Amino acid sequence: MNDDQWAPCPPGELVKSAKRIQDTKRKVRRNVLLSGGVAILAVAIFASPFSPFSSQDSTDSGNNYAGITCAEVRAKVGDYKADKLEPAIRTQMEEHCRQCVFCRQLLARQSRAAQDRLAGNAASWKRPTAET
Ligand SMILES: [Zn+2]
Repeated sequence: MNDDQWAPCPPGELVKSAKRIQDTKRKVRRNVLLSGGVAILAVAIFASPFSPFSSQDSTDSGNNYAGITCAEVRAKVGDYKADKLEPAIRTQMEEHCRQCVFCRQLLARQSRAAQDRLAGNAASWKRPTAET
């Protein structure tokens, strides 16, 4: 019989694998902490008064910043984009949007939509491709 095959583990081998297991455990724990933090952050964002996901009452006509309500801003946003508003009302709207995240987003969306529309028009002005 050859006893060499059953040689005991070289010294350090057990320690090494134990360390490896500990490392894995640490990593798992860190991942759990990380995802827990993300969850807390998500809850904080959802619960925040400035969150676009929360408090629907902020989007109705109740909010009044700079002497103008969100409903009025929404009603005038077209005129604002078309530059048809009186300077005083324009300033009022801009002041409102500085304080109201909803209307700021609305305005940003509107201008992006306008940009997209312009880009679309510009594209449609090109000669149609002669693929057919
Ligand atoms: Zn508003």
